[in-house]
Amino acid sequence: MPAASPSRPKVLMVSSMPEWDLAPMRELYDLIELPAGGPEELTSTADIMALVTSGGRGADAALIEALPALELIAVYGVGYDKVDLEAASRRSVAVTNTPDVLTADVADMALALTLALARRIVDGDAFVRSGAWSHKTMPLTGSVSGRKIGIVGLGRIGEAIAHRFAGFDTEIGYWNRSPKPLSSWQAFPTPSALAAWADILVVAVAGGGDTIGIVDAETIAALGRDGLLINISRGTTIDEAALLISLENGGIAGAGLDVFHGEPAIDPRFLSLGNVVLSPHQGSATMVTRRAMGAVVRANLAAYFTGEALPSAVVRRHS
Ligand code: NAP
Repeated sequence: MPAASPSRPKVLMVSSMPEWDLAPMRELYDLIELPAGGPEELTSTADIMALVTSGGRGADAALIEALPALELIAVYGVGYDKVDLEAASRRSVAVTNTPDVLTADVADMALALTLALARRIVDGDAFVRSGAWSHKTMPLTGSVSGRKIGIVGLGRIGEAIAHRFAGFDTEIGYWNRSPKPLSSWQAFPTPSALAAWADILVVAVAGGGDTIGIVDAETIAALGRDGLLINISRGTTIDEAALLISLENGGIAGAGLDVFHGEPAIDPRFLSLGNVVLSPHQGSATMVTRRAMGAVVRANLAAYFTGEALPSAVVRRHS
């Protein structure tokens, strides 16, 4: 429960949201944009109890420490790897995210990248547009149906990806840090054992310090020359330096990537590769899903300011 509820609570907007989400929020709260120079440029921080941020932007310890009244960080996204949870917990700041509502679209993106890469959809489009089709035929492509699909991280999105691939008569295997006793799919002891078995490796594990480079050079090598790597999780989960070397030297056949180290300023070496499909972090970027994510952010803000239980807390305030 907020210590003192002002009539129009102030909410710090660290990242922008679509106008359709901002309009209903403006009716209830004073929305304050985080100045380019950081929280030091705010005229007052004394009554900012909540902030809204994106998964990509998060909230670091400096921002949390600069807001003495902060009690809620509402992430507009499911990944909260850029929120300093230790700093939040130290200050008893609750953290919420937007799980479930984006699962289907992100899983769809994994399938879209896989099909685009294996069936060379982007190359085919360029082939038709260039007029090349009038005098030659495109090379044959690889298949997705009937292949072995390995999923790194069988969380909500990983599981939704597995269900979708099952519809393509594939074999499904996975690696997950904790056991999944209810799953009927084949479990592997390490990401690299999974990669050695799989034709297509799909990364859906959460980002954060513990999963940096969880798909390492050994795992990429184990996938082999015909292997495809798909990443819709976070750029940090793959050893990108090792991936680039492998892609440049035919160590694996190709990669479909929605996320990158240092995005949007991605490594320019990706741009000259012919065996990649690149997507600008579009996993959850549909109208339906973004509206649903906005509704979850608003529900968390409303619950916080009325003293109700937070609908999707990943960290709660100490009592
Ligand atoms: P989730 O249900 O919480 O699943 C997280 C998965 O990561 C689980 O398999 C979990 O294993 C594993 N995991 C978490 N922390 C780990 C650690 N320290 N070490 C090893 N494994 C760990 O989350 P989700 O909804 O499926 O989302 C998964 C991720 O997708 C998000 O965190 C985000 O990074 C990414 N994402 C990307 C987009 C996009 O636009 N491309 C959109 C949304 C989300 P356990 O089962 O053992 O907990």
